[in-house]
Amino acid sequence: MIHAVYPGSFDPITNGHIDIIHRARLVFERLTVAVVVNPSKQPLFTLTERVQMIRDVLDDQGLSIPVASFDGLLVKYAETIQAQAVVRGLRALSDFEFEFQLSLMNRRLKPDIQMVYFMSSSEVTYLSSGLVKEVASLGGDVTGLVPPIVHRLLIEKLSIK
Ligand code: ADP
Repeated sequence: MIHAVYPGSFDPITNGHIDIIHRARLVFERLTVAVVVNPSKQPLFTLTERVQMIRDVLDDQGLSIPVASFDGLLVKYAETIQAQAVVRGLRALSDFEFEFQLSLMNRRLKPDIQMVYFMSSSEVTYLSSGLVKEVASLGGDVTGLVPPIVHRLLIEKLSIK
């Protein structure tokens, strides 16, 4: 029974992340989504908001997947929850450079944890949380790019109509 963890900022969760979650579920018997506490990033949504938002979105989709949060080293966290694999998504060559470094560093730190990469569907591959926030903050319509729950919360948070 291979347990995988899908870590990320999820600020907020987009349909791109959800695409990756669905793909990872096809491969791993157990999956945990884990929100990273990153002190160097100033998130739009608090950690509690992000965790709750992901839980609501997954619930809404009938997916029973635990959602947690962690700080510190990813490989240490993976070890704590006894995950043998880490799921990440690849969008473009730009992701590859960073993920390649991350993967080799994590392997150096913990050789027995495998980083596994999925490519999302072409309809969502250009999506990032940053782009969604930018478009939404400028009043652009992000319907279909994020789940309806997230759409509502984004509008609320950015106080836009
Ligand atoms: P981070 O801040 O760690 O990059 P993100 O929340 O942005 O966290 O993303 C978590 C993971 O999901 C990363 O591996 C990222 O490449 C992947 N991801 C995000 N959006 C998409 C998408 N649209 N298609 C494929 N992978 C994605």
